[in-house]
Amino acid sequence: MPAYTSPRPGQAFTGRVVDLRSDTITLPTPAMREAMATAEVGDDFLGEDPTATALEARVNELFGAEASVYVPSGRMANLVGLLSLTQPGDEVLCTRNAHFFHYEGAAISVIGGVQPRALTDRRGVLDPAEVAAAVKAPLDYLPRTRVVAIENTHNQEGGAVYPIDDLHALRKVADEHGLAVYMDGARIFNASAASGVPVAEYAALTDGLMFAFSKALSAPVGSMVVGSEAYIERARRHRKLLGGGMRQVGVLAAACLVGLNTMVDRIPEDHAHARRLAEGIAALAGGAVAVDEVETNIVMVRTAALGFTPEGFVEAMAERGVRFFTFGTGNVRMVTHKDVSAEDIELALERMAEVM
Ligand SMILES: *Cc1c(COP(=O)(O)O)cnc(C)c1O
Repeated sequence: MPAYTSPRPGQAFTGRVVDLRSDTITLPTPAMREAMATAEVGDDFLGEDPTATALEARVNELFGAEASVYVPSGRMANLVGLLSLTQPGDEVLCTRNAHFFHYEGAAISVIGGVQPRALTDRRGVLDPAEVAAAVKAPLDYLPRTRVVAIENTHNQEGGAVYPIDDLHALRKVADEHGLAVYMDGARIFNASAASGVPVAEYAALTDGLMFAFSKALSAPVGSMVVGSEAYIERARRHRKLLGGGMRQVGVLAAACLVGLNTMVDRIPEDHAHARRLAEGIAALAGGAVAVDEVETNIVMVRTAALGFTPEGFVEAMAERGVRFFTFGTGNVRMVTHKDVSAEDIELALERMAEVM
């Protein structure tokens, strides 16, 4: 994950910067700025913000869901989303490299008294038999296995999509063992664009789901927790408990609505750019990228094949105006998004060729 260094390498670079660090860096579009400036607002803490309410209605419709609630960040969405399925003393099964397991300050444990337990997965896909075997017996000294959580797309697994057949199989085993299914769908629109599976079809197989507006959808702030009426009632309570109840939040929700209405259909461009980037890097050094594993907007690069350490490659390229983060062991991660063009990808590849 991001190694934040100071001073950052490449700060002196003055040409066109190709920023592949994350899709979170996407800037709001002019239409978002306009919608934010003119949004009708009220006190959402009192349930009186018409734009926030309109956003919920639009999300409910898109996801075929009863209810949804807007929260300030993806991390708060995962925390609210998982707290609303658990009680202290519960256990949540997850993938080895789950975002909430590694990068969210152990929040569900610190705040919820909930224990995560990682299973062995295949690029983010869980084996139903292993899930079944992991469910603890109902003995009074054991944690209660309550939730199985997956990530779609899976960030640390290079943007891998959770195949719909595997999700059906997971749902089945979860039902057999009384487990809730939770989806960290921060990039669910990337998953849907790649697989052709509508987001509502994913949502229908979960008891709770979150997605981010601040990544591919390019809105400045916010994520959504989606589910049943009763679940979102609990989520609203947890949001306020965590200090996430906001006032004239329509100013932010307005940009999210524009994101939903204008940014979803263009996601395949990001995926095409990622694939071109992967093919270009593979042409520089076979083995640096598993091109077949590039399903969405994330490219994982094995820098050893390029003759660099991860940190060395990040620094050499930052000095040439191409930015990305080290990520995992021996890897760097490159992420395409709406502020990276096809020309930018070619520029990045030319600059990589220079350092080989
Ligand atoms: C980015 C991300 C999050 C957290 O979102 P923030 O808005 O950065 O807090 C959660 N899960 C996954 C899979 C992510 O990629």
